[in-house]
Formats: sequence, C-alpha cells, structure tokens
Amino acid sequence: MAILRIEGAQIITMAGGDTEVRQGWTLEAVDGEITYVGPAEDLEPAAEPDEPIDGSGCLLLPGFVNAHTHAAMTLFRGSADDMPLTPWLEEKIWPVEAKLDEQDVYWGTTLGIAEMVFAGVTCFNDMYHHPEIGARAAIDAGMRMCPSGVLLGILPNAEELLAAAREFTREFADRDDLCIHPMLAPHAPYTCPRELLERVIEAARELAVPIHIHLAETEQNVAASMETYGRRPVQAMDEVGLFSVPVSAAHCVHLDERDIEIVAERQVGVAHCPGSNLKLASGMAPAQALLDAGARVGLGTDGCGSNNNLDLLEEARLAALIAKVREDDPTVVPADVALRMATIGGAQALYLEDIIGSLEPGKRCDCILVDLDAPHLHPRHSLVSHLIYSARASDVHTTIVDGNVLMHDRALTTIDLDEAYARVTESAERLFR
Ligand SMILES: [Zn+2]
Repeated sequence: MAILRIEGAQIITMAGGDTEVRQGWTLEAVDGEITYVGPAEDLEPAAEPDEPIDGSGCLLLPGFVNAHTHAAMTLFRGSADDMPLTPWLEEKIWPVEAKLDEQDVYWGTTLGIAEMVFAGVTCFNDMYHHPEIGARAAIDAGMRMCPSGVLLGILPNAEELLAAAREFTREFADRDDLCIHPMLAPHAPYTCPRELLERVIEAARELAVPIHIHLAETEQNVAASMETYGRRPVQAMDEVGLFSVPVSAAHCVHLDERDIEIVAERQVGVAHCPGSNLKLASGMAPAQALLDAGARVGLGTDGCGSNNNLDLLEEARLAALIAKVREDDPTVVPADVALRMATIGGAQALYLEDIIGSLEPGKRCDCILVDLDAPHLHPRHSLVSHLIYSARASDVHTTIVDGNVLMHDRALTTIDLDEAYARVTESAERLFR
C-alpha cells in the first residue's frame, strides 16, 4: 500500500468548482486514489506514509489539465514563427513531420512532458503521429495522457492510419492500471472527408472513447465548411453526427449563436487555446458565452510550433485577459473562472471529470504545490487572483500524478533532462537539415 500525505499546505480543492482556500487541511491518498481531504485533526490515517510531504508555505491544488496539444512538436519550437496557419502547416510543418521517426516522437514527447511537469500540468490531451510511442513516453514518465493518432483524410494512407488508431485504442482503452486514456483524432473537418469522419464516429462508439478534433479554428475553416457542407463547421459536424459521441474540440474560435447552443447542448468539450489563436491570428473564442451556455470548457496550449510553450498557467492568464478585450468588459472570465477552466473544466473537456480535476475522495491524486514564497505573490489579498494574474509556472514546487511525485522542489524524478536535451537536439538537427 502506497500512502501519500501532504500536510501544512493551504488547499483549494476545486470540488464542485469551489475555489475557497482552506487552512489547516491535509490530503491523503492510498495507491494513487485520494482517500481524505479535510481538517488535519479529523484525519484517520490509513497507515503511516514513508515521509509526509511538507506543504507549508505552499498552495495545494489540482494539477492543471492541458486539454489540447501535440507534445512532440517541442521539436518544432522556434523553427517557423510569425506565419498564417495554412502556409505554416503546408510549407513548414507537414514536410518535416513526414520525416519523423519513432525516436523523434518519443524524445519530443518526453521533452514536452518534462516542460509540463515543471509547469504543474498533470494531464494532457495529445494528438500526434505514432501515438503508441507518445503513450510510451507518458508511461515511462508517469504522466497522465489522452493519446490519439492524428488522422488526415488528405493523406494517401488514411485507411492504414485509421486501422492503426483502432488497434492502438483497443489496446489501451481497457487498461485502467495506466494513466492513459486514448481517443480517436480526425485532424479537422477540412482535412477529413465526411466518409472518414463517419467511420471514426462508428469506431469511437464501438470502442467507447471520445473523439479529439480541431474545430472552427479560423475564418478559412468556416469558408471551407460552407463550401463543402453549406453550413458552418459546428453545424456541419452536428449534421454529420460527430456529437453523437463524446467530442473534445480544440479552438472553437469562430462560433455563431447557434454554434454555441449546439456545443452546449451536445456537451462538446472545448479546449480554448488563446496563446495559439493569438500567435496565428486565428481570432478569439467566445469563452464566456460558451461557459454561460453551460459548455465544458478547458484550456489548451496547442503544440509548441504555434505557442511556443506548454505553460497552462500562461493560457489561464491569457484566457482571462483576452476575454475582457473580446467582450470589451473587464468583468468576464474572472480569476476563479480561469482557474476552473485550467483544472476541473479541462477534466470536463476530456470527459475525465469523474477521475481528475478536483481534490476529493475517490478521485485519482493529480495535484501540485505552488510555492508562495515570492515577491509577486505578496501581500495575500487573494491566492486565486495571485495564481491567475501573477504566478508563474516556475512557482510550481511539486507535481504529483496518480499519487506519484514526478517533480519535487523543482527536480524531476522520472525524466533524465540531459538525455532528453541531447536526443531532441539530435532529432532537430536531422529533421531540419
Ligand atoms: Zn492543435
């Protein structure tokens, strides 16, 4: 029996979305499952832990959920900036991706996981090539991941990719001993013909896994959808039947009122990616309207080609700031709402809210300690405000996934960073030669 106990921290549980800061509480987890969160004096210890974690001077909260990324794209960081989406993909990204091998994906993903663990991310939703290799990197690092192999209908081997995705998903779908929650990932409506989408929907139903897709990211996406379907992307996908299964949709920038209603009614998970949308000038998602309508809204970094980092706390701050400019209203997406999107909202967007996203008994123990000993976190008017508007990823002191400590006192426990740096340098040199 593995006992994990964190004592002395201030705690935000996010249970039911609650952002109240509790003092004098203790968290205990047994074999990765949270068994107690509450006043220290009421704890009936399961057994003595090897060594309790001293959380004094820190804030304990659920780990951040990165609801949309392509982790191995760390290999592309800084290789092609300041371009529009379509030429960026067609001229810079896809030709290099065609040369990717398994080692590239393994080490690119490992570097991404290291970066996310340092930034307090405890779960990421990933869409990329060789998903079995990305998943291997996550298993080796002890990270929680929703892997999916990207399906591009415009590629000649789309059939082969779908067969491989089915096999990969079947292999992982029933294994609850691992922190791996597979999905199926048709890249986007404009890169996947209707016939392929229908087959992916069928497979998702059969395998009981969600679908991960890019949706309504740019104005061009809307124009392409109007041309193909005579409808906007969300309405077209509704007609195709995409939302008859759980869907995690990245971006959802260009939505009209009917689109927002559909996203909320069908309980589509939204990964709002403000950093990527800013950099590619894609537009700004109507985050507050989606939340008001009752949608499942989380945050994503997108890949490092278009961000250029995997810092979810930065996305939370951007989400809070951008919404205010978008709506010309400083009251929208306040700090507590941004914090919800970064944690429980992300879990909802991935259909994992029964497992993660808040600290409460019965859920898996994915949590972080944020070190409050910093000038930018004083005085203590509001820790929720500090987290969103002032804290930095580097304030994260400890990152725990499924009850396992992956980073403590800014030191990684499962990843050899020097090796990761050497391997990604090697890969980058070969790929961009
Ligand atoms: Zn993406």
